[in-house]
Amino acid sequence: MDIHKIRADFPILETQVYGKPLIYLDNAATTQKPELVLRTIQDYYTQYNSNVHRGVHFLSQQATSAYEDARKKVTAFINAKHTHEVIFTRGTTDGINLVASSFGRKFLKAGDSILISAIEHHSNIVPWQMICEERGATIKVIPVNEKGELVLEELDELLDETVKLVAVTYISNTLGTINPVKEIINRAHQQDIPVLVDAAQAAPHLPIDVQELDVDFLAISAHKMYGPTGIGALYGKESWLNQLPPYQGGGDMIKSVSFKKTTYNELPLKFEAGTPSISEGIAFGAAVDYIQGLGLNNIQEAESQLYSYAVEALQTIDELRFIGEAKHRAASISFLVGDAHPFDIGEILDKQGIAVRTGHHCTEPIMQYFNIPGTVRASIAVYNTPEEIDKLVTGIKKAVTLLS
Ligand code: PLP
Repeated sequence: MDIHKIRADFPILETQVYGKPLIYLDNAATTQKPELVLRTIQDYYTQYNSNVHRGVHFLSQQATSAYEDARKKVTAFINAKHTHEVIFTRGTTDGINLVASSFGRKFLKAGDSILISAIEHHSNIVPWQMICEERGATIKVIPVNEKGELVLEELDELLDETVKLVAVTYISNTLGTINPVKEIINRAHQQDIPVLVDAAQAAPHLPIDVQELDVDFLAISAHKMYGPTGIGALYGKESWLNQLPPYQGGGDMIKSVSFKKTTYNELPLKFEAGTPSISEGIAFGAAVDYIQGLGLNNIQEAESQLYSYAVEALQTIDELRFIGEAKHRAASISFLVGDAHPFDIGEILDKQGIAVRTGHHCTEPIMQYFNIPGTVRASIAVYNTPEEIDKLVTGIKKAVTLLS
């Protein structure tokens, strides 16, 4: 892959911050957008802006066709069997809330439980807590070890008859741990328990094949995949989606409405009430095109090299301690520097034009486990370079000097 060509696709990378070239290492929070995605949004609003699934007129048909093409692209991207198994959502959080609410209302009762892991993002914890509280069910947790790996020796015991669903992240946004989701799915399926995978961090970094994984539900966010905010996708196996009640009511999700009885639409529209994020959906398709154009295998290889380079380079800083050292890691690297508060390191880096994230990264239970207030997190994307990592290392060394 030609890194110069890739960087030229992202206009924002030319930005100066405090007079210094931007070094953007906060990709786990959101990625930057290539020209192709930006142009797609502009084209929609300047050439065929109109509502979808409704009008007979020319523009509406054009918008509907572009929107449904995007669904086909996402379907192919995750290798779903049917386009109607791909529901457009507002993002991963929305997708998980949809399943928690619909699955919970239909299948959860007092005494049941949902099994999650100790390294989940809040968006794969709180929706389950909310529905469990409502239904009298509880949350159970797969523990983590000091390296940031799940302790799967305990999985079979945890998968008892109370568990109605397992919900785990593919890649931890904080530790970078790549969970063995295929193994977790297999073992849950041996007990006939369905599995939801939070693939928010996985989708931009490694190929996902929902049929090969045999996963029951999988949620992704476009904005972490070089696409816009406000749009994502929830994959659900047809057999499950047909059993779940609608999440929200409104236009588009119905076949017919009367004051006596409403009948619901077919999949996927049954789960897509109201006017969707149209330009965002179409641009999500463009983001998928962009990733496919580069090739996820190529992206994965390049990023894996850069990740190893970053780990080695950061190791040269005596005061630095990694939080999370799982054998299989990608995308995010969390660390602490001496006694410095992560926020202070983040601020000093910011003044050098380096964007990292500091804090708990929406994973407070991980912070509680490691007994730390937060971490500094550098997270990479396809446009990052070894030179940027070198500048990060220099920046941290400067912070160490300033804070000592
Ligand atoms: N899950 C993980 C692992 C994440 O990293 C994030 C976002 O940071 C989410 C879920 C939530 O994604 P969104 O905010 O796009 O809904």
